[in-house]
Formats: sequence, structure tokens, C-alpha cells
Amino acid sequence: MRNTLHHITAISGHAQRTHDFYTGVLGQRFVKKTVNFDDPGTYHFYFGDEAGSPGTIMTHFPFEGVGPGRLGIGETQETMYRVPKAALGFWTHRFVEKGVVHGALETRFGETVLPFRDPDGMRLALVGLAGIEAEPARETAEIPAEMALRGFHGVSLLLEDGEATARVLTEVFGFARTASEGTTTRYRVEGESLGAIVDIHAAGGFLPARQGAGSVHHIAFRAKDDAEQAELAARLRQELKIATTEQKDRDYFRSVYFRSPGGVIFEIATDEPGFAVDEPAESLGEALKLPANLEPFRAKIEGLLPPLDTQRASAA
Ligand code: ZN
Repeated sequence: MRNTLHHITAISGHAQRTHDFYTGVLGQRFVKKTVNFDDPGTYHFYFGDEAGSPGTIMTHFPFEGVGPGRLGIGETQETMYRVPKAALGFWTHRFVEKGVVHGALETRFGETVLPFRDPDGMRLALVGLAGIEAEPARETAEIPAEMALRGFHGVSLLLEDGEATARVLTEVFGFARTASEGTTTRYRVEGESLGAIVDIHAAGGFLPARQGAGSVHHIAFRAKDDAEQAELAARLRQELKIATTEQKDRDYFRSVYFRSPGGVIFEIATDEPGFAVDEPAESLGEALKLPANLEPFRAKIEGLLPPLDTQRASAA
């Protein structure tokens, strides 16, 4: 099994601001505008590459005015995006120009990393990689293709003790332990480049995480179809004694969830059917899409959702 990252789902505090940052500042495509299927008065936004490919998708639940989260034990600490190494200077300038909170360049595991925050303070980073310049990337008016993001590099998890969670990665999802640096151990799916890294930062003494704006809610790993997902879930239950949920239909993928031993919510999401299942690939993200069971309540739902101007992206 080789189950790299499918998507990352986060909580933010303001729909318009989140939209403008991920599309305008980062140049991601607004792949889908829908609602939280379990709480339809709240949006669910998906940002990714041109096609909304697994391994590029950052999703947000913008709860208007929700209080800030507090990073702590049992949480995803940082999400890393891939950029060509030569693009890091461009991005440093861009973050200064756009007032994006960012740090100085760092070296981690031999890679050059530019850490930054989204408007809710969520920890993100750009990792400069050699040899990825020719990969397809989304160009915007302000971001030439050679500078653009190329999906996820990986995530880091802040855990009290990483061992039990590492077994999920290595025994079920096909990751291998490849390096360690200080208190962080790197796990990766060898031979894959997109979403192929999970760094476990095992650090005792932190308070537990408190979820809120700027927190990652869960991370999802890929399964190619229902059969592979069912097999992964069965192995989690049988071999690692981890309880998993029933499969839930998220319209663009089908999901099984479980709490990893270290506390982070993990999901297994199918690659099928993808984001073009309910609107044309050319106009992804333009219309509010609702699951069939919520369609009868469209007018009411539209009345509850905050206004969103999706034309502001290029001006952000
Ligand atoms: Zn998810």
C-alpha cells in the first residue's frame, strides 16, 4: 500500500479572508464551494491545483468569528507545500509585499524551508525542491508558473509520543522511517513526491491542542477506491485495534475516519470520483454545490451563508 496525503482540512475564522488568501496570495484554484455536510450553515471550501488533484487539496471550514485555536499535543503542526527551489526568493518578497507573517529560511532534513502563516495563524511552509520546475503548475496574473505551488510536500504532527502513530504510517499506509533530526522523525512514501511526507515531532510537555481558527481539523490519506479503503480500515481494526467509522459519502470522495493513537484525526479518502463530478472542470468552484439531500434547502442555506466575492482573488 502507498497511501500519500489526499487533503488537509482546517478551521478558519472568516470565509472571504480565507478565500482571498489561498486563491489570491497563494494562487491556488478555488476548486469547490460547498457547505459542511454536517453543519450546512457553514461553508466548506476546497483549494488546490487546476484539477483539484489528490495531494494538493487544502479544505477549510470557515466558522465566522470562531476563536483562535491553540497549537498543542495531538495536532497537525504544519502543512508544507512544494515549490521550485529557485522560487523561494520570489515568495519571500511576495510575503513581505502582502503582509504575510513569515519566518526566515530554515534548513530541515537538508531542504530549504520558508515557514509562514495563513490569516488565522495556521502554520504553513514552502519547501524549495530541485528538479520540479517542469511539473505543471497553475499560473495567475501575479504568480508565473515557474514560481507556483506544486501541491503538498507533507505535514508535521506534534505528538507526546510518536511510536504508535508511526505504526499506522509504516504498517498500514506504506510509509518508511527515513531520517530523524532533533525530536522530529521523518516518514515518507518512497518513490512518491506529492504529499509523501509525515514528520512526527515528538515533544512532551506541551499542553493538549485546543481546536479553533488556525487549527488543522484532520488530515486525509489516499485510497484509490472503495476496495482499497475497506482493506486499509480492516487492517487498522484487526492489526492495530483502532476503531474506524462507517464510510461517509463526501460527494467528491468517500471517507472513513479514525483517531490516530497520538490524537490527530486521520481520514482515508478515495481518489474517486473527484471534483468534476457535479460541475464542469472548466468552471470548478464558481457555483455553490450542495449534496442531494440538502438541495431542497438551497434557498435557506444560501440565506445563512455569509456573502462571498470570488472575483476578489486576483486583487488580494
Ligand atoms: Zn477530510
